[in-house]
Amino acid sequence: MTHFDDLVIGSGMGGLTVAALLANAGRRVLVLEAHDVPGGYAHTFRTGDYRFCAQVHYIFGCGEGETIHRLLDALGLVDQVPFVRLDPEGFDHVVVAGQRHRIPNGLSKSRDRLIHRYPWAAQPIRAYFDVVRTIADELERLDVLPERFSLSLLPAVVRCRHLLRYMRWTLDDLYDSVGMPMLLRGVLAGQCGDYLLPPRDVSLLLHVALVANYDRGAYYPRHHYFHFVESIAEAVRSREGCTILFEHEVERIHTEGERVVGVTTRNGQRFTADRYVSNVDPRRTAELAGGALQRKSRLLDYDYSSGTFTMYLGVRGLDLREHGFGSHNVWRYPHADLNRVYDDQLLRHDLSDPWLFLSTPTLHSGEPGLCPEGDQILEVATSCDYDRFANLRRSDRPAYNREKKRIRDTILDLIQAEYVPGLRDHLVMRVTGTPVTNERYCFAPKGNSYGSALTPANVGFGRRPQRALDNLWLVNATAGFPSVAGTIGAGLRLFDELSSR
Ligand SMILES: Cc1cc2nc3c(=O)[nH]c(=O)nc-3n(C[C@H](O)[C@H](O)[C@H](O)COP(=O)(O)OP(=O)(O)OC[C@H]3O[C@@H](n4cnc5c(N)ncnc54)[C@H](O)[C@@H]3O)c2cc1C
Repeated sequence: MTHFDDLVIGSGMGGLTVAALLANAGRRVLVLEAHDVPGGYAHTFRTGDYRFCAQVHYIFGCGEGETIHRLLDALGLVDQVPFVRLDPEGFDHVVVAGQRHRIPNGLSKSRDRLIHRYPWAAQPIRAYFDVVRTIADELERLDVLPERFSLSLLPAVVRCRHLLRYMRWTLDDLYDSVGMPMLLRGVLAGQCGDYLLPPRDVSLLLHVALVANYDRGAYYPRHHYFHFVESIAEAVRSREGCTILFEHEVERIHTEGERVVGVTTRNGQRFTADRYVSNVDPRRTAELAGGALQRKSRLLDYDYSSGTFTMYLGVRGLDLREHGFGSHNVWRYPHADLNRVYDDQLLRHDLSDPWLFLSTPTLHSGEPGLCPEGDQILEVATSCDYDRFANLRRSDRPAYNREKKRIRDTILDLIQAEYVPGLRDHLVMRVTGTPVTNERYCFAPKGNSYGSALTPANVGFGRRPQRALDNLWLVNATAGFPSVAGTIGAGLRLFDELSSR
């Protein structure tokens, strides 16, 4: 049995961040990771001559002083891990019913472009951007917001009064209050795959946080995600007395009273430490710890975000730049009623005309390493229901594979018809994943994409790293915010908390 100062379960971005910072501060750190590579959803898998990042496409928080930059700076990695900025004139292209809208950096520019194109909707567009700007400004000051309110903290509360006012609002509540026309409801929520909820359900504060964060700059790591993740993992491994053990799935967290006294891995090894951090989903952590955490039910009371259907494609003999792709992502919607689009896919399991997210990592950075020279990569994602795929896979494996193929063919037909004629003839690699794939490889319960669902009920000031037991802390997309920057931010915050003890 080996004893460490700190033991981190899971090497997703939240876990890796806190592990690297603790190692950097001279603590002896052990990371136990179930998979055979680090990064969780940000890991890269290899198949043939291709490498695909499992889920991450573009990130925010890379500018000087912002979250990811702060982590790399603390680890001395800023020069080693440079970023490329996606096109500031249109880092996301939102295509609703065939009409393309380029989303630029700069909220005022975005607003003015829309007013220029839709002058008849100038009033609701202005009103929408006013509220977004107000909330975004207050979110930027969020660090000063207290965890508990008291009279002496009144000035801070006053400075954040709009956050309190809009805390329970959804995006549709804002649309309704400004009288937003349907087409613009679709366009303005065009990045909603980044939180996987339609306007009717998403927390307004979360929507604004997403829009405002990417507004400051959308980035891609110049040397790709595997280099970004590996650099942080190496910051753990390179410190004396620190290590990451892969294929070490923790199957039991042992507790005595309110303390963790060790963990056991599936291969029968036991490890102990003074302090423990779980980067694993909080509910799953509670299962691993038996009854000890169940008493803290407020930490465990949430529903999961939905799952995704993902396609990883290797393309040879054509240039995707000639078909509407480039230093940006494309969001495709069949029509502007995004509530109906989501209901069709998640409730009615109808993916005959799905929304699509299309991303081209080889056009975001020209650095080699993802595929043979001259080839390109196209990644495609949309939302789908976990239970349906899980039941099919469990009860009838051939039927599960047929369903995957059926949906993949529908999506390829759509891309051929609307963007890349003859695409099929140029595909030299195709890999397809469902929410079940995410559960198997990334250990995401119910294939959840962004931790707990990003509804008003789950989004609030309590969404941050949590102390679950005397010497056990939780940090991940749910105990924090999803996204690479969100989970790194949670890791930074937890490190500050642990360092102040
Ligand atoms: C389809 C999709 C697209 C996305 N696109 C983007 C994007 O473009 N930009 C962006 O910023 N974010 C994106 N995200 C979100 C982002 O990837 C995640 O929010 C973030 O990476 C989650 O980090 P985490 O710290 O919660 O850890 P996770 O990624 O959940 O990792 C947890 C780790 O713990 C390990 N683990 C679990 N159980 C055990 C156990 N018992 N023992 C040992 N190890 C265990 C897992 O193997 C895993 O490595 C996307 C997510 C999805 C699903």
